[in-house]
Amino acid sequence: MANTQNTWDQECDVLVVGSGAGALTGAYGAAVRGLDTLVIEKTGYFGGTTAYAGAGLWLPGNHVQARDGVEDSADLARAYFRAVVGDATDQRVQDAYLDRAAETVAFLEDSPHVRFEYRPFPDYFAAPGRFDAGRAVFPVELPADAGPQHLLDAVRPPAWAERLGLPVPDGPLTDGRALIGRLLLALESTGHGRTLLDTALTGLITEDGAVVGVETEHDGRTLRIRARGGVLLAAGGFEANAELRRDWQELPGADWTMGAPGANTGDAITAAVSAGAALDLLDQAWWCPSLRFPDGSAAFTLGLHGGIFVDGSGHRFANESLPYDRMGRQMLGAKAGTAHDNPVWWIFDGRFGDELPGITVVPADRTAFTDAGLWRTADTLDGLAERIGVEAGALRDTVRTFNGYAADGTDADFQRGEDPYDRFFAQGTGPNPCLVPIDEGPYHAVQIVLGDLGTKGGVRTDAQARVLRADGGAIPGLYAAGNTAASVSGRCYPGPGVPIGSAMVFGHIAADHIAA
Ligand code: FAD
Repeated sequence: MANTQNTWDQECDVLVVGSGAGALTGAYGAAVRGLDTLVIEKTGYFGGTTAYAGAGLWLPGNHVQARDGVEDSADLARAYFRAVVGDATDQRVQDAYLDRAAETVAFLEDSPHVRFEYRPFPDYFAAPGRFDAGRAVFPVELPADAGPQHLLDAVRPPAWAERLGLPVPDGPLTDGRALIGRLLLALESTGHGRTLLDTALTGLITEDGAVVGVETEHDGRTLRIRARGGVLLAAGGFEANAELRRDWQELPGADWTMGAPGANTGDAITAAVSAGAALDLLDQAWWCPSLRFPDGSAAFTLGLHGGIFVDGSGHRFANESLPYDRMGRQMLGAKAGTAHDNPVWWIFDGRFGDELPGITVVPADRTAFTDAGLWRTADTLDGLAERIGVEAGALRDTVRTFNGYAADGTDADFQRGEDPYDRFFAQGTGPNPCLVPIDEGPYHAVQIVLGDLGTKGGVRTDAQARVLRADGGAIPGLYAAGNTAASVSGRCYPGPGVPIGSAMVFGHIAADHIAA
C-alpha cells in the first residue's frame, strides 16, 4: 500500500483498473453520468480475456431475451442459481446479480453503440429454473470502421491469432472483441471517459483507511492518480501468476490458462490485500479441459462430438460431454490431467480423418503435435495403448464397453447424452448421438490437461460491489468486479456467460454506487 503524500500526477472522479467488460461497463456507467472517468490498462490492448471470449452473457430476464420470445425472469434464474450455487456465496450478493442483470442490459443498450442478441446455449445443470435452450445474450458484431481506429485497432486480437502469431482477421469485430469495441465506443461517446494503455496498477493509496487513489507504472515512470469518487478494480484474476497458483491452488504453474500471457497476475488482488481486503475462493477457477500444445501452453477444448477421455489407467472417469467447467472438476477429482506427468488421453478413431472431434479455440497443427508426442496414432487399439503407456487390456475393455453403450444408446457408467447440454454439440447418428463408436482404425490419442478461462477467487465484495475487510466492513472508495473479486457463483459455473455477465453487473453496480 502506497503512502499518502498528497502529490498527484493526475486526478479523476472514478479510476477503473483493467479493460475487460466488467471494467468498461463500470467506466461507461460512471462517465455517462458525467463523472470524469479514467481507465488504466496494463497491456497495450484493451479487453483482456474478455476479448478472447465467445461473450455469451448470463444476464437473466433481460429485454433482449424477451425480444426473441424467451420468457425468463430474475425469479426463475434465482431458483436455478440457488439450486446450483446454494449458500456457497452470500445470497444478498447473488440477489444483486440476478435482480440487476436486466437493468444492466437495458442501461447499456440505451447507448446507440451497444447492441445484444439472444442465441441458444443451454444452462450447465439439470436443476429447477434451468433453461434447456439457454438464457445467454451475445454482443452483435461490430463493423471494424464503426468508430475511432485508435480504439478499435487496440482491441486485443482473438486468442488463436495471438497464440499463433497470425494477423487480426479483416472484417467486423465479433464475440468478445465486439463487446469490448462496443463498450469502448459507448465510453468515448460520453465525453467523460479517458483511457491509458500500458499503465499498470502497482498500489492503492489510502487516507484514514479509505482508498483515495492509485500508484501506477507508465512508461518506466510512477504515476500517482487521485480518484475523488472511487476505484474499481476489474483487472482479472491471478491465472497468469505461477507463484500464486502454486501457493493458492497447489497447481504446477500457469502454463495452461487461457488468460493472456503476463496480463492477469493478480496485481489488483494483492494491492487490495495491502489495503485490508479479505479474500475468498482462491482455489477456484473457471476450469476447462484443454489441448496441450507443443510450446507448453494449452487451449480450451469443448463440444466433443467424438471420442472418450481416459486416465493413465486406461479407464474413463466422466461423461465427456459435460460442460467444460464440470469436466474440469471431474479431472481435479480424478487427479487426471492436473500435472505434467498424468495427462488425460482423448481417444478417437479414423472416422474423423485428420480432424479433432471437438472444438479447440486455438487450432492444432497435426504434424507439430505428432512430432511433440502430443498426438499419437496406431493401426490397432493395442498398438495405441503401447504408444501412450496404458495397459492394453484395460484400454481394449474400456473401448469395448463404450462401443456396447453406443450400440444400446445408453451410457450406463456416466449417462453421457442424457442432458440437453450433452446433445447440443452431438453429431452422431446412432441411438444416442453423443455415443459414437470407436472401431475404425487408425486409432488416435491426443493429450488433454486441466486448463482454465481464468481464476475466480479474489477479494470479497458485497451487494454494492464494495471490497470488504475480514470483519465484513467495506473499505471506503474501493470496489471490485470480474475475476478480481471472489465469484458470486462460488464453486461452480452455472451457465454460459456467468463470468462476463456477473462482471458487467457488478461493474454497473459499482458505478451506480459511486455516482449516488
Ligand atoms: P479480463 O477480461 O481479463 O480483463 C482484465 C484486464 O485487466 C486485462 O486487460 C489485464 O491486462 C488488465 N490488468 C491486469 N493487471 C492489471 C494492472 N495491474 N493494472 C492495469 N490493468 C491490469 N466468459 C463468459 O462469461 N462467456 C463466454 O462466452 C466466455 N467465453 C470464453 C472463451 C474463451 C476462449 C475464454 C478464454 C474465456 C471465456 N470466458 C467466457 C471467460 C471470460 O472471458 C473471463 O472469465 C472474463 O472475461 C474475465 O473478465 P475480467 O474482467 O475479470 O478480466
